[in-house]
Amino acid sequence: MREIIEPFRIKSVEPIRFTTVEERRRILEEAHFNPFLIHADDILIDLLTDSGTSAMSAQQWGAMMVGDESYAGSKSYFRFEQTVQDITGLRHIIPVHQGRAAERLLFSLIGGPDKHIPNNNHFDTTRANIEYSGATADDLVIDEATNLDSTHPFKGNLDDKKLKAYIEEHSPNRIPAIMLTVTNNAGGGQPVSMANIRQVSQIAREFGIPFFLDACRFAENAYFIKLREPGYEHRTPREIAQEMFSYCDGATMSAKKDAFGNIGGFLALNDDSLAERARNLLILTEGFLTYGGLAGRDLEALAVGLEEVLDEHYLEYRLACTRYLGDKMNEAGIAIVQPPGGHAVYLDAKRFYPHIPPHQYPGQRLVVELFAVGGIRSVEIGSVMFGKRDPETGLESPAKNELVRLALPRRVYTQSHVNYVAEVIREAHAHRDAATGFRITKQPQFLRHFTAHFEPLPN
Ligand SMILES: *Cc1c(COP(=O)(O)O)cnc(C)c1O
Repeated sequence: MREIIEPFRIKSVEPIRFTTVEERRRILEEAHFNPFLIHADDILIDLLTDSGTSAMSAQQWGAMMVGDESYAGSKSYFRFEQTVQDITGLRHIIPVHQGRAAERLLFSLIGGPDKHIPNNNHFDTTRANIEYSGATADDLVIDEATNLDSTHPFKGNLDDKKLKAYIEEHSPNRIPAIMLTVTNNAGGGQPVSMANIRQVSQIAREFGIPFFLDACRFAENAYFIKLREPGYEHRTPREIAQEMFSYCDGATMSAKKDAFGNIGGFLALNDDSLAERARNLLILTEGFLTYGGLAGRDLEALAVGLEEVLDEHYLEYRLACTRYLGDKMNEAGIAIVQPPGGHAVYLDAKRFYPHIPPHQYPGQRLVVELFAVGGIRSVEIGSVMFGKRDPETGLESPAKNELVRLALPRRVYTQSHVNYVAEVIREAHAHRDAATGFRITKQPQFLRHFTAHFEPLPN
């Protein structure tokens, strides 16, 4: 097979800033060893997230110039609506400023105390919006997902036996929706098979429960299906995506992911009365029906992005990126979550630094080292993010895993950037024995990973 190349050429570039080791040491001290507190200007390669960080195409920038900024009835909305309807087959398309706004609209209408909403894994904003409504959010992903080394091709699948038991336990009338996140972001960007989507939708139908897709990475999921699920090799990503959506009654979407948007999202629904109530809320907090918190030009850019993201050459390249970095880690004997997901590679910090115990945050050390060694920003997904602290005793129970996520922004970095990233990780790995853990010196009560301060522990 030929080399898979970046399916674009570059006509506008943004310089990245090189720093010296001494500068990076000072930057880390000033940021209290928390990469969230580093100025983006000081970062060479930023793998913090793939959300809102995509490079837009010339076609998207061009479309922005014809954005219709009319308050009501903007033609840009109708173009956006048409595009989303073509892909999803869903009737009511409600634009919002980002994914969590769609979640807030949906769950403030269908959530509430005594309600239960299952998912393969809820993304954190989804869980937060469900819980804020008073409902309970539960994760029913298959057991293989918890085994970091399992190479199951669809580790994002929802366990149908768990789902049936769940429905029996809570009774269908207290389950206002069943969700499925494609790909499963909180579970490592792992895909969900078409067979699983179909099966979950059948169970939902059987019990009369609406079925929703959290569709943020629907195109990446579609291409995983093409690569891994027998019977789909000759289908186009668009056809696969259309089939995925054909099984659901609605979808929430952050267009900051698979729509190449820097901002945006939508809520798509078939239920007329639910859509009407969602639109009433939309007007209250987001904006009028035909812009929902976005500018007309944003809607144009998203309409173009949603077409581009289904391009076969793009998706082939996209999934090759994480696979390429994953292969380099495998060759170097550096443990990652297997197999690499669609948008990110996750390093296993527990195995990278076996001598640093979870309460000394091995993931934080790895994140700090990647910046210190090579100016790379990544994010800890371990005990800093998910460790549970008892407010009375101050004692902490660790997270299940200590991971470091390297998320690849879409169309932003080239293969040599990825080679460089692999080199920096290998260098950090070579010096792993000298690394020490951290102590938290300051933390807020909630979501501490964003603002906590750290101090390195002595050797
Ligand atoms: C990003 C994301 C969201 C939330 O979207 P925002 O645009 O960040 O508000 C919801 N679900 C999943 C799976 C996501 O990846």
